Formats: sequence, structure tokens, C-alpha cells
Amino acid sequence: MEAHAVNPWVAVAYLVAGVCFILALRGLSSPATSRAGNRYGMFGMAIAVATTLVTHEIASLPEIGAAIVLGGGIGFVIARRIQMTAMPQLVAAFHSLVGLAAVLVAVAAFLNPDAFGILGDDGNILTVSRVEMALGAAIGAITFSGSVIAFAKLNGNMSGAPILLPARHLINLGTLVVILALTAMFTVAASAGPGENPLFWAVVALSFAIGFLLIIPIGGADMPVVVSMLNSYSGWAAAAMGFTLHNTAMIITGALVGSSGAILSYIMCKAMNRSFISVIAGGFGADAGGAGEGGAKEQRPWKRGSAEDAAFLMKEAENVIIIPGYGMAVAQAQHALREMTDLLKEHGVNVKFAIHPVAGRMPGHMNVLLAEASVPYDEVFELEDINSEFAQADVAFIIGANDVVNPAAKTDKSSPIYGMPVFDVDKAKTIFFIKRSMGGQGYAGVDNDVFYMDQTMMLLADAKKMVEEINKSLTD
Ligand code: NDP
Repeated sequence: MEAHAVNPWVAVAYLVAGVCFILALRGLSSPATSRAGNRYGMFGMAIAVATTLVTHEIASLPEIGAAIVLGGGIGFVIARRIQMTAMPQLVAAFHSLVGLAAVLVAVAAFLNPDAFGILGDDGNILTVSRVEMALGAAIGAITFSGSVIAFAKLNGNMSGAPILLPARHLINLGTLVVILALTAMFTVAASAGPGENPLFWAVVALSFAIGFLLIIPIGGADMPVVVSMLNSYSGWAAAAMGFTLHNTAMIITGALVGSSGAILSYIMCKAMNRSFISVIAGGFGADAGGAGEGGAKEQRPWKRGSAEDAAFLMKEAENVIIIPGYGMAVAQAQHALREMTDLLKEHGVNVKFAIHPVAGRMPGHMNVLLAEASVPYDEVFELEDINSEFAQADVAFIIGANDVVNPAAKTDKSSPIYGMPVFDVDKAKTIFFIKRSMGGQGYAGVDNDVFYMDQTMMLLADAKKMVEEINKSLTD
């Protein structure tokens, strides 16, 4: 069995690229160093792409060029057209493509092993390559179908409510065991020539099925963990492709994406008070009330406030905590909000931003928007660092957030968000709550007691328009 020869210069170049990617991840771990991190990432990727172009083996340069122009062109058009609020489903769609690419690479290697240098002297695909291609195809297929379901749920093509099959854990576990058993049988099979053994196709088909089964039971407010979990799966799929293509850079990059995605999922699970193992097993918190149910809402009294009320009370306040959420992203209100904080600071008000780990529709969503509006990093606080300060806050200013301030997460066991830590906004003296209507609910689709509290004033309007009006009142 001949080992695949690797040019030492290629190995060194890919190693340098890998080190750059590690430095990129390190840089991205803090907002202050994230720009440097991005530069390391771009530099590493430039080295990896250049090395691949110089040493290309399987495809010709015109073929690679055509693929870059076609794929890059489509990506460019999509990126130009996409709304910021549709980013999560776009990310899910892109993850599905990584998964599909891994399946296609494995299928190509299975049908034409000679081109990949993995055909043994006995006319069979090398044993180690059979393991790599079966696992690569399996991880890729799970990533593909799981991401398609996540896309459909986030994009509203499918209800966000969990779909619970009876005995789903047994079905999932059974399917996983069968996939592993078939992979083992394919690896040791006597006949495994090019495109020969149907066990490979069985692994692919069952993996598509289990990706689907793992994601359909997850619903409501638990989708953020799924998004980062699929990110991790797409990394492992890319690493598997790297093994099949003998590309060290892909193995390193895939493993980095896979492990950092898994760590992020773990952190998000902790933030959401969910079990990591249950996420991987598919469907958690799913036995609670379904998301998006809405249900019959009782009429309860609530108070409407105005931009003038908000401007007057905040001007007089000592401490104001702003809680941004998905609605701020929809309205693109971050720049007006930054202006509001500047005006309040001129009045001697102490202003802080409180960011929930799952606010918005993707990890870090709010941090990115606030950074875009040049909100200083030292004014932005994580949930556990600021939650105790609501008791001393004169005003909690909720702008387009909903689930992350819903006290049902603390008190209502039947709620789909039960158990998730939320901001203690009810402890603030006054609450301003910006949203467009009393009807619209948060992502989890449940009513929010904060609307009806004595100290709450609802500011019903588009978030950007409302903040602009508040700014006008603050300057008058
Ligand atoms: P929510 O989705 O709970 O609430 C959004 C609020 O914004 C609604 O009350 C809506 O009410 C309001 N809104 C929408 N558009 C506007 C607008 N133009 N102007 C003013 N208000 C507007 O947001 P949160 O950020 O509090 O919670 C995030 C939720 O999303 C969590 O349940 C989380 O689990 C989930 N999620 C998070 C992901 C992540 O990675 N961060 C990924 C997927 C889901 P109205 O329509 O009346 O205006």
C-alpha cells in the first residue's frame, strides 16, 4: 500500500496557513482583537488557496477558475441581496452546501478511486480510504439534511414548532448504530472496487435520513444551538473531505471549525440552561409547549408611552440599561441607538448595553450590530455580568427584544423557553418596551408578562423611527 506523497513545501505552507487560522480564532475571541484575527484568517486563506492553485492535481486550472467564477458570482449576488435579518437562514443554507460538497467528494472518490490515488493493487479501494469516504459521506449527509431543515424553520417555510415522533430517541440511536455497522461492513468487505459496493449508498441514504430526524424535533427558542451545532458538523464534513483529497489545510481548517463550533454550542447550551448531550441526540426541551402556538390571549391592561415620555424619564435617570434584540436588527436601529446613548451621556446618564447570548438570530448578532455603530466595547455587558444591576437601574430600555426578557422562562414550566436565563428587567424602576404591536410575539411565540407590568410603558412603533423621535425630544 503506497502512502500518498506530500511535497514538503506544500506541507509547510499548509502548516503556516493552519497557524494563521489558529491565531484568527484567538483574535476573534475578543472584540478588541477581532480585526487582527480577521486579517490572520484572510492571510492564512490566501496562502492555502495559492498553494492549492500551484499544486493542483485533480482538476485543471481552467476547471478551478470556472468553479471559482461561478460559485463566487452566485455568492456575490446572494451576499449583495441578503437582508441582515435573513443571515441565520443564509448561514444554514451555506452549511448545507459544505455538507453536500463532502458527500459529492466522497461519491466521486467512490466512483473513480484511481483519480484520487486510493485504488489498491487488488482492484479494491484502500481500506483506510473506505473508512474516510464512508465517514465523510455520512457526516456530510447529516450536515446537509439537518441544515436544510434548519433553513426551512428559520426561513418560515416550516413551522418552528418541534415535530415529535414517538420513540424518536430509539429511532435516532438505532439509525446511528446501523450507519456505523454498515460503515464497518463496507470497510472490511471483500469487494470494494470503483462504484461496486452498495453498502456505501446505504450509509449515504441513512445519513441523509438521520440529519432530518435529528433537527425536526428541535423548535422554538432552541434553534441557536442548532445553528452553531450545524456549523460544527460542517467543519467535520470539510475535515473528512480533506482526508479524501489528501489536503492537510482542509483537515486542519475543518477540525478548527468543527471543534470551535462544538465549543460554541457547549457555551450556548450552558447559557440556555440546556443539556449538550440532548442537543446532539436531537430534540431537547421539546416536550414543553410548542413554539409559535400563540394560543388564545386574554386581554390585560397595559400602558402606552410616547417618545417624549421616554426622553424625559431617561434624561432624568442615573442608570439606563439598554436590552437590544432581534427587532433592533430588523429596524437597523443601531446607529440611532448609539446617537441616543451619546445624547443621554451628555445629560450625565450612565448607559450600559445588556446582551443576551441568544439575542437576535445568530450568535454574536447584537455585538456585531453595536460594533458597526461604534458602540464602545466597555459599554456592552454579558447577561451574567449585568443581571444583578437591574435592581439599581432607573430605566430598562428594551428595543426589539422579547424572549430574552420574558419572565415565563423563570416561572412557567410549560413555556418553550422555560429554564433559559433571562434579564431581570422587572427589577428596574421603569421599563420602556419598543415593539411594533401588542400582537407580535418573540421567536418562541409566547406572551410576555413584562408588557402588562405597572412600571412598563409600551412604545409601539418601528424601533428606528421610535429612537429617532426620542433623539429629537432629547435635543429639543
Ligand atoms: P425575539 O425574536 O424574541 O423578539 C423580537 C421582537 O422584536 C418582537 O417582540 C417583535 O415584535 C419586535 N420587532 C420586530 N421587528 C421590529 C421592528 N422593526 N421594530 C421594533 N420591534 C420589532 O427577539 P430576542 O432577540 O429577544 O430573542 C431571540 C430569540 O430568537 C430567542 O428565542 C432565541 O432562542 C431565538 N433564536 C436565536 C438565534 C441566535 O443564534 N441568537 C438563532 C435562532 C433563534 P413586533 O413584531 O410586535 O414588532
